[in-house]
Amino acid sequence: MKILKIDHLGIAVNSIDEGKNFWTDVLGLEFEGAETVTEQKVTTAFFPVGESEVELLESTAPDGPVAKFIDKKGTGFQHIAFRVADIDAALAELKEKNVQLIDQTPRIGAGGARIAFLHPKATGGILVELCERS
Ligand code: ZN
Repeated sequence: MKILKIDHLGIAVNSIDEGKNFWTDVLGLEFEGAETVTEQKVTTAFFPVGESEVELLESTAPDGPVAKFIDKKGTGFQHIAFRVADIDAALAELKEKNVQLIDQTPRIGAGGARIAFLHPKATGGILVELCERS
């Protein structure tokens, strides 16, 4: 597969309102605004950093994936997202290699990106997201 760059780093927070101050006031990053992805029960906020971004993730429901992550591991680094040229080809290649996936087919994430997650069991414990943006 063709990985173009690190698209973003996902960080789980209890509250974007409270969590964003470190990234904006201390580090001086720009807050690009928040977006709720209803299907994933999450609100995301992006902070561009050069060619990549920091993504803060706040759960909108106690049973959402980000809430479950925080219950298990606490707040903090949650996933790394790689920008790929062709997510369908990337997923086909991973299936060919018997890599365990969370998403068998791409779904729509924040910003209209097509995304899919690999299972942490297949990656040495890190949640890995593939991301294709047009
Ligand atoms: Zn992400």
